Amino acid sequence: MVNALEVEEEMEAEKISWKEREGIRYLVFPQLEGTGLVVHAFTSRPPDLGFGRRPREEILKNRRQVCHILGVNFLCLTAGEQVHQAEVSTVGREDEGRGALSQEGAIPKVDGSVSNVSAVPLVLFTADCVPLFFLDPVKRAIGLAHAGWRGTLANAAGKVVSQMKTAYGTRPEDLLVTLGPSIGPCCYQVGEEVLSLFHHRFSDGRRLNLWEANREELLSEGVKDENIVNSEICTSCHSDIFFSERRDGSPTGRMMALLMLRS
Ligand SMILES: [Zn+2]
Repeated sequence: MVNALEVEEEMEAEKISWKEREGIRYLVFPQLEGTGLVVHAFTSRPPDLGFGRRPREEILKNRRQVCHILGVNFLCLTAGEQVHQAEVSTVGREDEGRGALSQEGAIPKVDGSVSNVSAVPLVLFTADCVPLFFLDPVKRAIGLAHAGWRGTLANAAGKVVSQMKTAYGTRPEDLLVTLGPSIGPCCYQVGEEVLSLFHHRFSDGRRLNLWEANREELLSEGVKDENIVNSEICTSCHSDIFFSERRDGSPTGRMMALLMLRS
């Protein structure tokens, strides 16, 4: 007999997998890993990988080290500006490396990106906001979305799905989507004004459940429930592993979500 706890632990084990190399720990998601089509990672602290809080040289050094471990050229990291909205950029070869060396170089005003170009690493940087990883294994296309409460309200996740449909002919039912570590319904207390923007849905009256709100956006775009994997790891609950803007106060560091089609 297998008891319920063991079953639960096994399910957990299927959602995430920790890797460690050269003292750097990062997460991969078996759902994506199993396809063999992508390189991907979600990093943990200590390295701060987002510009704006520590000296730029330090961030570049951290990025170089993490990218070395992942087998990715850090000069090729391709990032959006991340302005807590829901614009999605379609990333071509010519965009490679935008935002790799400076925040000013990032693709302006976007919180989502999609691509079907191999070996271009899409990245975003978070410290509570939900990072969403998208893979269409049929059309060989990928996407990333950054969704805090504003991005979620603006349907950033859903807009990545529609952009993949338009740009690559993606069928939503083929999409695999993973929600990476982010602030959970356990910790994300928000004000009445935010709850009311969500019409008091996805809430216990005090705290907002960004995971469920994003799941619903994906479902309403036609993504299959069984193809959505929520890693269900709260950044605020795990101070030893993740930065959390809410918990640490601003400024805190940033983890990196990276997704790249293999050549
Ligand atoms: Zn929590």
